[in-house]
Amino acid sequence: MTAQPLTTAELQALDNAHHLHPFTDYADYRKQPGRIITSAEHITITDSDGRHYMDGMSGLWCCNLGYSQESIVEAVTRQLHQLPFYNNFFQCSNQPSVELAARLSALLPDPFNNVFFTNSGSEANDTNLRIVRRYWDLLEQPKKRIVLSRVNGYHGSTIAAASLGGFKFVHNQFEKLPYVEHIQPPNWYAHGRHQSEHDFGIACAQELQKAIDHHGADNVAAFIAEPVQGAGGVIVPPASYWPEVQRILDANDILFISDEVICGFGRTGELFGFQTFNTQPDLITFAKAVTNGYQPLGGVMVSDRIAAVLTASGGEFGHGFTYSGHPAACAAALATLEIMQRDNTVARVKETLAPHFQAGWQALADHPIVGHVRGLGMFGSIELVRNKASGERLGKESEAGATCRQACLDNGLVMRAVGDSMIIAPPLVCSTAELDELLRRATAALDATAAHFGVAV
Ligand SMILES: *Cc1c(COP(=O)(O)O)cnc(C)c1O
Repeated sequence: MTAQPLTTAELQALDNAHHLHPFTDYADYRKQPGRIITSAEHITITDSDGRHYMDGMSGLWCCNLGYSQESIVEAVTRQLHQLPFYNNFFQCSNQPSVELAARLSALLPDPFNNVFFTNSGSEANDTNLRIVRRYWDLLEQPKKRIVLSRVNGYHGSTIAAASLGGFKFVHNQFEKLPYVEHIQPPNWYAHGRHQSEHDFGIACAQELQKAIDHHGADNVAAFIAEPVQGAGGVIVPPASYWPEVQRILDANDILFISDEVICGFGRTGELFGFQTFNTQPDLITFAKAVTNGYQPLGGVMVSDRIAAVLTASGGEFGHGFTYSGHPAACAAALATLEIMQRDNTVARVKETLAPHFQAGWQALADHPIVGHVRGLGMFGSIELVRNKASGERLGKESEAGATCRQACLDNGLVMRAVGDSMIIAPPLVCSTAELDELLRRATAALDATAAHFGVAV
């Protein structure tokens, strides 16, 4: 670095004076300045006061391979020397984007043989809306316009992506796209405890049928969903849910967009979440872990059915980004996929890490303030409660979550709070010993949270 390092206090003051952060309560942030993260190694991040934290969230669900992947740095550096940028407009292309398109097509099962590159998951979901619309128009079914999505789904933060997302407080802050409608998610603990998980899963899938009936199948273009809702609280659906949803989509000729921005690249124990749940998407959103977070990159995998329609007819597709297929970002992705192949990351998750992690995570159900545990592959969530039977909260809404999140930090662990649930998504490069340590710290944080609310452990 050329610049003189600033002190923590100097950084915090400048940060507060000039930097508007994403998804942040600014009045709050002024009162409590942020932690400045200065370095990271393997699965540990370090702040400007020299404190270390195990990263239980893989950055923001993206650094699945941790922070010490030198080959990605080298690949990006090499590419920046060779060709730092050229666009993919006007009949041009470049080797990293070509190679990555071919590599992703080879990695995914048929019918996924085409990709449209973006810089983020949000832009990829915008792209999905543009592709879906174009597809139905080219098929001369212009009435198919409505896109169904789910409450508490997260699909990004452009106008289109936030419209697809199902967060009410977000919708209250802008004008949601009028053709996006939301149905209930399969959150059994929040909404279904009076029923068996199986029956509740079917009932939630039937919500999709009801919405289709309400609008008319001729008017519904697509359904978008995460295989497991991530930011909404790691909502693992009942086993009965996805087969019934897929049946309904097929019966009504509605396109299915599987938003794999979190589930993709190994998180669920398969390469993609749709493979874990055996669904058949028409479009797949990816981003985040595709570059291990080392460069911004997202995209849409387009199935043959759609690609055939898009490529058969003339007329320009009026959509794209300056950095679609950016050579340095694509080089980062190629290097990431190379590591995953070399280390057999997905198989290791499925056979070793996920079973080990889930055994420890599910055991947290015995803790006095844990009302419910969910998990799959290498992520999970727990509901914090005072009373396991009634689900009574420990304090005011979100208070237990905020308390536990701070207790995690105090114990050298980053976990995220979603209301009063705690969520975790450890890097896929953890050793089993590191996972044990991470669970030990999570347990210590739960103990501290219980003590804070006067619950005996
Ligand atoms: C993070 C996320 C997005 C948005 O990706 P950005 O790169 O932040 O735009 C979309 N979908 C899901 C499921 C996500 O978790």
